[in-house]
Amino acid sequence: MKIKDKILIIEDEASISSFIATVLAANSYDTMVAHTGSEAISMITSHCPDLILLDLGLPDMDGGSILKFVREWSTCPIIVVSARNHERDKVEALDAGADDYIVKPFGTSELLARIRTAIRHTRTHLPNGDIAQSGQFKAMGLTIDYDKHQVLVDGQNVHLTQNEYKLVSLLGKYAGRVLTYDFIIRQLWGPKAKSDNQILRVNMANIRRKIEKNPAEPKYIFTEIGVGYRMVDPD
Ligand code: CA
Repeated sequence: MKIKDKILIIEDEASISSFIATVLAANSYDTMVAHTGSEAISMITSHCPDLILLDLGLPDMDGGSILKFVREWSTCPIIVVSARNHERDKVEALDAGADDYIVKPFGTSELLARIRTAIRHTRTHLPNGDIAQSGQFKAMGLTIDYDKHQVLVDGQNVHLTQNEYKLVSLLGKYAGRVLTYDFIIRQLWGPKAKSDNQILRVNMANIRRKIEKNPAEPKYIFTEIGVGYRMVDPD
């Protein structure tokens, strides 16, 4: 029998937490609910969940503090589920170590897809996964060949520059997750690189001209306005 993944729902609104718990239970997840920050912290330390859904607005503390608390010692995937829809909140949460960000209200299929993506990433991520990447990424006709350092669309090499290739392969590695501009810049050009989104935008425009049929309506790499980019899920 398959061992169920254990998901901790941190949410003070009972109607929302019970709705999420019902959806997750129906999809073969084990669930636990914490209604306050202090309850959440004791559950996290005693139960080691496989994934955490985190509301930012809690009665006794800000969800951001829980995020920082967990990230000090654990890589457990955390998806922020929040009514706050400002770009700044999303960037802050992602840069503080959240794996993803969902804005309320959300659809259940979207929630389930994000959960699958986040859990898959912890399973496939080696400790030194940031250095080596091999094999291929495939999504709807797009192929990233990590061994040959090539990107192909429908089997045709699209001839990316070094920077363009690095950007596409980074997004492919974290497919399904939104990566913030700062995260991308640090990964591509080191921790001291200047946060200059303009260079990223220029690279992305060039990439889209090469890989997308209609660069204005991309189907491979999506822009989260003011936040960053997200690669489509693999096939
Ligand atoms: Ca709340």
